[in-house]
Amino acid sequence: MCENHEGARSGPAYPTFDECVRFHGHSCPGLATGYRVATAAMRTLGVDRPYDEELVCVAETDACGVDAVQMVTGCTAGKGNLVIRDWGKHAFSFFSRESGRAIRILVKNSGISGRSAIDDLRKKVFSGTATPDEEATFRGMMAETTRYLLSAPESNLLEIREFTGKPPEKARIFASVVCEVCNEPVADARTKIVGGRRVCIPCSLAGESPERP
Ligand SMILES: [Zn+2]
Ligand SMILES: [Zn+2]
Repeated sequence: MCENHEGARSGPAYPTFDECVRFHGHSCPGLATGYRVATAAMRTLGVDRPYDEELVCVAETDACGVDAVQMVTGCTAGKGNLVIRDWGKHAFSFFSRESGRAIRILVKNSGISGRSAIDDLRKKVFSGTATPDEEATFRGMMAETTRYLLSAPESNLLEIREFTGKPPEKARIFASVVCEVCNEPVADARTKIVGGRRVCIPCSLAGESPERP
Protein backbone atom coordinates (compact mmCIF):
# COMPACT_ATOMS: atom_id res chain seq x y z
CA MET A 1 0.00 0.00 0.00
CA CYS A 2 1.37 3.35 -0.97
CA GLU A 3 -0.39 6.18 0.75
CA ASN A 4 1.34 8.84 -1.31
CA HIS A 5 -0.36 8.38 -4.65
CA GLU A 6 -4.02 8.93 -5.45
CA GLY A 7 -5.23 7.48 -2.15
CA ALA A 8 -8.80 7.09 -0.99
CA ARG A 9 -11.22 9.64 -2.34
CA SER A 10 -12.05 10.97 1.07
CA GLY A 11 -8.37 11.09 2.03
CA PRO A 12 -6.01 13.99 2.37
CA ALA A 13 -6.07 16.60 -0.38
CA TYR A 14 -2.45 17.62 -0.45
CA PRO A 15 -0.50 17.78 -3.71
CA THR A 16 0.92 14.64 -5.32
CA PHE A 17 4.64 13.98 -5.71
CA ASP A 18 4.29 14.68 -9.46
CA GLU A 19 2.97 18.15 -8.68
CA CYS A 20 6.01 18.72 -6.47
CA VAL A 21 8.26 17.60 -9.34
CA ARG A 22 6.63 20.18 -11.62
CA PHE A 23 7.24 22.90 -9.01
CA HIS A 24 10.81 21.80 -8.24
CA GLY A 25 11.87 21.23 -11.85
CA HIS A 26 13.14 17.66 -11.52
CA SER A 27 12.57 14.44 -9.60
CA CYS A 28 15.31 13.64 -7.11
CA PRO A 29 15.90 11.75 -3.83
CA GLY A 30 15.94 15.02 -1.87
CA LEU A 31 12.52 16.01 -3.15
CA ALA A 32 11.18 12.51 -2.38
CA THR A 33 12.54 12.76 1.17
CA GLY A 34 10.92 16.17 1.59
CA TYR A 35 7.65 14.72 0.30
CA ARG A 36 7.72 11.96 2.93
CA VAL A 37 8.56 14.51 5.64
CA ALA A 38 5.77 16.84 4.56
CA THR A 39 3.08 14.16 4.29
CA ALA A 40 4.16 12.64 7.63
CA ALA A 41 3.91 16.07 9.25
CA MET A 42 0.43 16.66 7.86
CA ARG A 43 -0.80 13.26 9.02
CA THR A 44 0.83 13.45 12.46
CA LEU A 45 -0.59 16.90 13.12
CA GLY A 46 -3.98 16.00 11.65
CA VAL A 47 -3.97 18.53 8.82
CA ASP A 48 -5.68 17.34 5.64
CA ARG A 49 -4.82 20.09 3.22
CA PRO A 50 -2.48 23.05 3.17
CA TYR A 51 -4.21 26.22 4.19
CA ASP A 52 -3.12 29.66 5.11
CA GLU A 53 -0.54 29.74 7.87
CA GLU A 54 -2.00 26.94 9.98
CA LEU A 55 1.41 25.27 10.07
CA VAL A 56 4.81 26.81 10.64
CA CYS A 57 7.91 24.93 9.51
CA VAL A 58 11.48 25.43 10.58
CA ALA A 59 13.77 23.67 8.08
CA GLU A 60 17.33 22.95 9.15
CA THR A 61 18.43 22.58 5.52
CA ASP A 62 17.98 24.57 2.34
CA ALA A 63 18.17 21.54 0.04
CA CYS A 64 15.70 20.16 -2.55
CA GLY A 65 13.29 18.68 0.03
CA VAL A 66 12.24 22.16 1.16
CA ASP A 67 10.34 22.57 -2.11
CA ALA A 68 8.14 19.55 -1.37
CA VAL A 69 7.54 20.89 2.13
CA GLN A 70 6.40 24.23 0.68
CA MET A 71 4.13 22.58 -1.86
CA VAL A 72 2.52 20.01 0.46
CA THR A 73 2.22 21.87 3.75
CA GLY A 74 1.59 25.41 2.53
CA CYS A 75 4.54 26.62 4.63
CA THR A 76 6.24 28.99 2.22
CA ALA A 77 9.13 31.40 2.41
CA GLY A 78 7.00 34.25 1.10
CA LYS A 79 4.27 33.88 3.73
CA GLY A 80 6.86 33.72 6.47
CA ASN A 81 5.62 30.40 7.87
CA LEU A 82 8.68 28.63 6.49
CA VAL A 83 11.86 29.55 8.30
CA ILE A 84 15.11 28.17 6.90
CA ARG A 85 17.89 27.79 9.42
CA ASP A 86 20.50 26.09 7.30
CA TRP A 87 22.32 23.99 9.82
CA GLY A 88 23.00 21.31 7.21
CA LYS A 89 20.68 18.78 8.87
CA HIS A 90 17.84 16.91 7.26
CA ALA A 91 15.49 17.89 10.07
CA PHE A 92 12.24 19.82 10.02
CA SER A 93 10.12 21.10 12.89
CA PHE A 94 6.42 21.75 12.37
CA PHE A 95 4.16 23.77 14.63
CA SER A 96 0.37 23.66 14.46
CA ARG A 97 -1.08 27.03 15.36
CA GLU A 98 -4.52 25.46 15.79
CA SER A 99 -3.63 22.67 18.21
CA GLY A 100 -0.44 24.14 19.68
CA ARG A 101 1.36 20.86 18.96
CA ALA A 102 4.93 20.71 17.69
CA ILE A 103 6.89 17.88 16.09
CA ARG A 104 10.44 17.49 14.84
CA ILE A 105 11.08 15.10 11.97
CA LEU A 106 14.61 13.83 11.48
CA VAL A 107 15.52 12.01 8.29
CA LYS A 108 17.45 8.88 9.18
CA ASN A 109 20.68 8.17 7.38
CA SER A 110 20.12 4.45 7.24
CA GLY A 111 17.87 2.73 4.79
CA ILE A 112 19.51 3.91 1.59
CA SER A 113 21.71 1.20 0.14
CA GLY A 114 24.61 2.09 -2.14
CA ARG A 115 24.87 5.61 -0.83
CA SER A 116 28.67 5.81 -1.03
CA ALA A 117 28.60 4.47 -4.60
CA ILE A 118 26.14 7.22 -5.50
CA ASP A 119 28.33 9.84 -3.82
CA ASP A 120 31.41 8.65 -5.72
CA LEU A 121 29.56 8.79 -9.03
CA ARG A 122 28.04 12.18 -8.19
CA LYS A 123 31.51 13.67 -7.79
CA LYS A 124 32.50 12.37 -11.22
CA VAL A 125 29.26 13.48 -12.89
CA PHE A 126 29.38 17.01 -11.48
CA SER A 127 33.07 17.48 -12.17
CA GLY A 128 32.53 16.37 -15.76
CA THR A 129 34.82 13.35 -15.53
CA ALA A 130 32.18 10.62 -15.70
CA THR A 131 31.94 8.40 -18.76
CA PRO A 132 28.51 8.21 -20.46
CA ASP A 133 28.09 4.76 -18.86
CA GLU A 134 28.88 6.11 -15.39
CA GLU A 135 26.50 9.01 -15.92
CA ALA A 136 23.71 6.62 -16.96
CA THR A 137 24.45 4.44 -13.91
CA PHE A 138 24.28 7.53 -11.69
CA ARG A 139 20.91 8.64 -13.14
CA GLY A 140 19.57 5.11 -12.72
CA MET A 141 20.67 4.90 -9.10
CA MET A 142 19.14 8.31 -8.36
CA ALA A 143 15.83 7.23 -9.89
CA GLU A 144 15.94 3.94 -7.97
CA THR A 145 16.66 5.75 -4.69
CA THR A 146 13.80 8.17 -5.37
CA ARG A 147 11.39 5.25 -5.91
CA TYR A 148 12.62 3.62 -2.71
CA LEU A 149 12.18 6.82 -0.70
CA LEU A 150 8.61 7.23 -1.93
CA SER A 151 7.58 3.71 -0.99
CA ALA A 152 9.68 2.64 2.01
CA PRO A 153 7.97 2.24 5.40
CA GLU A 154 7.96 5.57 7.18
CA SER A 155 9.72 4.21 10.26
CA ASN A 156 12.72 3.24 8.10
CA LEU A 157 13.10 6.79 6.88
CA LEU A 158 11.90 9.18 9.55
CA GLU A 159 12.12 9.73 13.25
CA ILE A 160 9.16 11.77 14.45
CA ARG A 161 9.09 13.16 17.92
CA GLU A 162 6.65 15.48 19.61
CA PHE A 163 8.04 18.32 21.70
CA THR A 164 6.86 21.37 23.57
CA GLY A 165 7.70 24.59 21.83
CA LYS A 166 6.36 27.66 20.17
CA PRO A 167 6.80 28.64 16.51
CA PRO A 168 9.24 31.45 15.77
CA GLU A 169 7.65 34.91 15.88
CA LYS A 170 5.68 35.90 12.82
CA ALA A 171 7.37 38.30 10.46
CA ARG A 172 6.46 41.83 11.35
CA ILE A 173 5.68 44.60 8.92
CA PHE A 174 8.69 46.91 9.08
CA ALA A 175 8.72 50.62 8.41
CA SER A 176 10.40 51.43 5.12
CA VAL A 177 13.27 53.90 4.89
CA VAL A 178 15.59 54.86 2.04
CA CYS A 179 19.22 53.65 2.00
CA GLU A 180 21.51 56.67 2.02
CA VAL A 181 23.93 55.04 -0.42
CA CYS A 182 21.82 53.37 -3.14
CA ASN A 183 18.61 55.32 -2.48
CA GLU A 184 16.55 52.13 -2.62
CA PRO A 185 13.66 51.68 -0.18
CA VAL A 186 14.52 49.10 2.51
CA ALA A 187 12.93 47.76 5.70
CA ASP A 188 14.18 49.85 8.59
CA ALA A 189 14.92 46.77 10.72
CA ARG A 190 17.34 45.47 8.06
CA THR A 191 19.44 48.62 7.82
CA LYS A 192 22.78 49.32 9.47
CA ILE A 193 24.46 52.55 10.47
CA VAL A 194 27.80 52.88 8.64
CA GLY A 195 29.82 56.07 9.03
CA GLY A 196 26.78 57.85 10.43
CA ARG A 197 24.62 56.90 7.46
CA ARG A 198 21.67 54.51 7.39
CA VAL A 199 22.42 51.94 4.71
CA CYS A 200 21.03 48.64 3.40
CA ILE A 201 22.89 45.36 3.95
CA PRO A 202 24.48 45.08 0.47
CA CYS A 203 25.71 48.68 0.73
CA SER A 204 27.08 48.03 4.21
CA LEU A 205 29.04 45.08 2.82
CA ALA A 206 30.23 46.85 -0.31
CA GLY A 207 31.34 50.09 1.35
CA GLU A 208 31.06 53.46 -0.37
CA SER A 209 31.02 52.36 -4.01
CA PRO A 210 29.00 49.17 -4.07
CA GLU A 211 28.83 46.96 -7.12
CA ARG A 212 25.17 46.69 -7.91
CA PRO A 213 23.75 43.44 -9.18
ZN1 LIG B 1 16.26 18.32 -6.49
ZN1 LIG C 1 21.81 50.54 -0.29
